[in-house]
Amino acid sequence: MKINENFAKMTPSYLFAEISNRVKKYKEEHPEADVIRLGIGDVTLPLAPAVVEAAKLAADEMGRAETFRGYPPYEGWDFLIEAIRGYYASFGVKLNYGDIFVSDGAKSDAGDLPDLFSADNTVLVPDPVYPVYVDANIMGGRRIIYARGNKDNNFLPTPGDIDGGDPDIIYLCSPNNPTGATMTREGLREWVDYANRIGAVIIFDAAYEAFISDPHLPRSIFEIEGARECAIELGSLSKTAGFTGTRCGYTIIPEELERDGAKLNKLWMRRQSTKFNGVSYIVQRAAAAVFTPEGLEQCRKNIAYYRENAAIIAGTLDRLGIYYTGGAHSPYIWMRCPDGMGSWEFFDLLLQKANVVGTPGAGFGSEGEGYFRLTAFGSREDTAEASRRIEKLLSK
Ligand code: PLP
Repeated sequence: MKINENFAKMTPSYLFAEISNRVKKYKEEHPEADVIRLGIGDVTLPLAPAVVEAAKLAADEMGRAETFRGYPPYEGWDFLIEAIRGYYASFGVKLNYGDIFVSDGAKSDAGDLPDLFSADNTVLVPDPVYPVYVDANIMGGRRIIYARGNKDNNFLPTPGDIDGGDPDIIYLCSPNNPTGATMTREGLREWVDYANRIGAVIIFDAAYEAFISDPHLPRSIFEIEGARECAIELGSLSKTAGFTGTRCGYTIIPEELERDGAKLNKLWMRRQSTKFNGVSYIVQRAAAAVFTPEGLEQCRKNIAYYRENAAIIAGTLDRLGIYYTGGAHSPYIWMRCPDGMGSWEFFDLLLQKANVVGTPGAGFGSEGEGYFRLTAFGSREDTAEASRRIEKLLSK
């Protein structure tokens, strides 16, 4: 018996464990310290009342013989698929019913989609980025190449920034985790045109689309002409509606998307019906409530709260004259560490001198060294206090 030898090629996932060790040690040595965490990528506001109400009603239905439901359809319940279609239509994107697959979140789908592709494929990943794209493909034995993000391209790499030849699969994430950088329509069009030219497939992660407030910025890759022939989109209710602990997302694979003589939509249905038995009825009812007028209004209020937090942090960095990306259409602020410091050096300084915890950028890829991620998911009070401390520390 042999294990999958590709596991040995993965870098140990030590980022959040190392952060937690350093914070724990500091608190043991300074029990009086009031440490504020702006490092978390998890939401803190509760589910919207419309969502909770829908979940309760669905639980009641499951408790009555006449309305009990067993296994859901592999692609998801019709009421949720229609609700997602309606949501996309509200910003001008027409989806077919058969394009949409409901899932338990974007992480599973980002990691499972490589099942559709040969192990010989080369995968392009922006650097820095959400680490799941890299690790899921290393597990599958694929070659990874990078498009480097940096201050020169404002952390929005273009096809011209690719290192290592043309890829077969391209992961893009906008608004981006960790940089908060958000692609323009022109920037995204460049990737769509490139993918169509070379025959690659784009996996576009739109997990943070709900943070986009500028109607000129694309919320979906399907706003771009030609995307239905080359792209798959991942959606998530985690950040849109606080579903990190409730679990629901969706993947969109247009019926037009064909490679190697196969429709990827059909392959995905085959894959899901083999390895996945769906999302619970109660969660799908709760998810559908997100897209009702009442649910949307309540969820948007929560997003506005996080966005205001982001603006407080961004305003602080503006006053300090520190370079950053994100903050405007994203819960993430990606700042340059002051005085040429390394990511971990700045982490220690901020922890020890301001009692504020963030995430070292080096944990998201080699281009993240020298950068630092702050998040807007904390309380208003904590965000304002942490910003005051950062300003005091760095304005000296
Ligand atoms: N995609 C990105 C870019 C993320 O940052 C995250 C979570 O942090 C996810 C996907 C995971 O989403 P989900 O909770 O739907 O699995």
